[in-house]
Amino acid sequence: MAKVSTSKTFDVVIVGAGIIGLSVARQFLLGSNVSIAIIDSAEPCAGATGAGQGYIWRIHKDPESEKWALALRSQRLWEMLVESVMQQGKDPLIALGWKKTGSLLVGRTSEESDMLKKRLEKLSEAGVEALLLSNNELLLKESALGLGHEGSAAFLPDDFQIDARGTATFIQQFQAEGRYEEFFNEPVTNLIRSSSGEVEAVQTSKSIISCRKAVVVAAGCWSGSLTHNLVKNCNIELDLPIKPRKGHLLVIKNFKGFVLNHGLMELGYINHQSASTDQTLATDPQDISVSMAATMDMSGNLLLGSSRQFAGFQNEIDESIVNRMWERALEFFPLLRCHSLQDLRKDCEVRVGLRPYMASGKPAIGPVSGLPKLFLACGHEGEGLSLVSQPTNPIIFSIYSFMGSFITSLGTTLGTAEMIGDMVLEIH
Ligand SMILES: Cc1cc2nc3c(=O)[nH]c(=O)nc-3n(C[C@H](O)[C@H](O)[C@H](O)COP(=O)(O)OP(=O)(O)OC[C@H]3O[C@@H](n4cnc5c(N)ncnc54)[C@H](O)[C@@H]3O)c2cc1C
Repeated sequence: MAKVSTSKTFDVVIVGAGIIGLSVARQFLLGSNVSIAIIDSAEPCAGATGAGQGYIWRIHKDPESEKWALALRSQRLWEMLVESVMQQGKDPLIALGWKKTGSLLVGRTSEESDMLKKRLEKLSEAGVEALLLSNNELLLKESALGLGHEGSAAFLPDDFQIDARGTATFIQQFQAEGRYEEFFNEPVTNLIRSSSGEVEAVQTSKSIISCRKAVVVAAGCWSGSLTHNLVKNCNIELDLPIKPRKGHLLVIKNFKGFVLNHGLMELGYINHQSASTDQTLATDPQDISVSMAATMDMSGNLLLGSSRQFAGFQNEIDESIVNRMWERALEFFPLLRCHSLQDLRKDCEVRVGLRPYMASGKPAIGPVSGLPKLFLACGHEGEGLSLVSQPTNPIIFSIYSFMGSFITSLGTTLGTAEMIGDMVLEIH
């Protein structure tokens, strides 16, 4: 066992350097004078964030859901970040991989066209103007699509995409004047509590890192097992029902076959995203689904997604899933038939990520009852990029704004965003 070094002390200790942990860190550094330690068992983007396709979209979200307000606010905060990057004289395409591609949600049958129309009506009632495009109109925008004469799409011109890895790197470039330290390749193994029960430090494989104000667990799909281990000697029941939901993303480097001008997704993706794990409904224990999502990144790589399956914590590439994703893409892009996946695989990266899935469809965010100073920020499943925003002041509010409605399995009613930010910052 590695030797445990002496303790270092910070105001806030964040466990997990995915998009959620990094964003929380950044916000604390920008919005207050607290000191921050961020700890990861590997490196930033080792988790789901590294596989994210980067869609910051509203078109596939439901205006009647509780997450809608958060999605809108996140979208706005991303835009503010982009504006601030531009004000610094930087190109957001290079800094963040940001592209205002617009979003195209495509259907191939008249039934799907009807569903798209209903979606547009709801969006319009919510004040978001999106258009229904016929197959011919769609072809003018994306000539590589082959949906057939019944094809149509809902189009939201203002939706955009970012590069998840590039953005995480950008967020990491903190100018924090000694208030920030990273502890990577250093898994958190234990919580250390004072005699009064307050969390006062975390133990990692190499060191003890003490906190004055808060420990924030932002460890994605590992947050459930981690918190379970953390509290096992505390006489506290903490059953955080997060499951890993594996996803593959195919990155075809420097693709020359055709150009995509927009982000695309098939309508069926929405059903797959919200699919229940109810075993009475699911015949396949892994509940595998594959749906087409395609876009091009700033380097001209073709990004083809995506899959969803419950396969435990293993994150090896599954070639049968890659084949299914490819076959699915062929149904939408006939020109891909000129290429063989086998050939493309030579210059193709497959990214695998474990989405932090909560059956409730809502992330677990807030303080943990009975464990003063411990907070959760996890469970964003396939929306972690679009439900968290970047280094602008209200970010902490953004990620915590579910707290008003989310009741944890602990029976704890969580407070508001403002309350949590205040709570953390007011602990002396
Ligand atoms: C294929 C795919 C496509 C996606 N596309 C999109 C998209 O287009 N738009 C969108 O909004 N979302 C998308 N998502 C979802 C999004 O990527 C996730 O919701 C988001 O990345 C979750 O971020 P996180 O920080 O909570 O978790 P993670 O990124 O998983 O970060 C958790 C971190 O915790 C660390 N950790 C774990 N255990 C410990 C420990 N004991 N000690 C210390 N550190 C620990 C891990 O190493 C990891 O770095 C996609 C996901 C996948 C898989």
